[in-house]
Amino acid sequence: RSGAVLVTGGAGYIGSHAVLALLDAGWRVVVVDNLVTGFDWAVDKRASLVVANIEDEANVRAAMREHGVTAVMHFAGSVVVPESVANPLKYYRNNTAASRSLIESAVAEGVKHFLFSSTAATYGIPEVVPVREDSPKSPINPYGMSKLMTEHMLRDVAAAHPINYCALRYFNVAGADPQGRSGQSTAGATHLIKIAAEAATGKRGHVSVFGTDFATPDGTGVRDYIHVSDLAAAHVDALDLLIARPEENHTLNAGYGKGFSVLQVLDAVDRVTNLKIERRLEGRRAGDPDALVADNSAILAALPWRPKHDDLDGIVRDALAWERALGERDGS
Ligand code: UDP
Repeated sequence: RSGAVLVTGGAGYIGSHAVLALLDAGWRVVVVDNLVTGFDWAVDKRASLVVANIEDEANVRAAMREHGVTAVMHFAGSVVVPESVANPLKYYRNNTAASRSLIESAVAEGVKHFLFSSTAATYGIPEVVPVREDSPKSPINPYGMSKLMTEHMLRDVAAAHPINYCALRYFNVAGADPQGRSGQSTAGATHLIKIAAEAATGKRGHVSVFGTDFATPDGTGVRDYIHVSDLAAAHVDALDLLIARPEENHTLNAGYGKGFSVLQVLDAVDRVTNLKIERRLEGRRAGDPDALVADNSAILAALPWRPKHDDLDGIVRDALAWERALGERDGS
């Protein structure tokens, strides 16, 4: 591998797994992370860590030059949907404006390839499920809009400058590195599998089921859960594609194309733990679609990538193992 990959948000949940996948594939990696929600210990020791904001052009450009960066993987950003509704300007700053300056730095330093963490939230409430990449994009919250705006910037920049990009639209990312090197560590989780793992390890008493009257087989919300290590591996393959086809840009759904309901997820947690975690049936959260499942035919056609952890019980098992390890870390 020639050159190095600059990973923003490499101290965070998905970014830290991408760092592992890149290093394991033989890439040199430099992480830029401001450690506001990430953890320095989550960055593998084989990578360099620059503690800076991604809009700090002096530091970012220096890192690109010093390390011979040829590609950027951009994970840094704010990700809490309800917070984006309450504080939209935070999202347009941390996601859209910060991405703008990162892209500008990349162009100025002659970086050739840009991978972007986008989201299924760009689709809003899809009319057709499984959802294809060319489905209407109508985000229903500032989080999704802040990411969609960044996709549009990348499209325009790639048309004007010698850089190509791949935007991966993530569905529901869950699980943890099967080797136990990283996992979801952020406190104040809102994501179902993380919350269930916290309940299974005694960190909370019950799991709320938000909505039981959706148009789904059991009435609870259906999502496409993808193991974080599979997602990380998709980024490494997507980078290879950008290198092999410098004239092409890609926007790809990252999911398994299979949906599980909230109750199916909680059943899996009970199965894996031999517990009966208390479920409290509650009302819907604002803006939750009934079902959000990827049509993943485009990513399967574009990349050699094939899921290796496409198993709900395995995802839950890895999430739980990490949750227990976190407990020991916190307790020590
Ligand atoms: N959910 C739930 N209880 C929780 C958290 C989430 O019932 O404590 C449901 C949520 O309504 C949705 C699914 O679980 O149907 C996945 O939600 P999550 O917040 O993990 O991801 P999202 O799909 O909202 O990005």
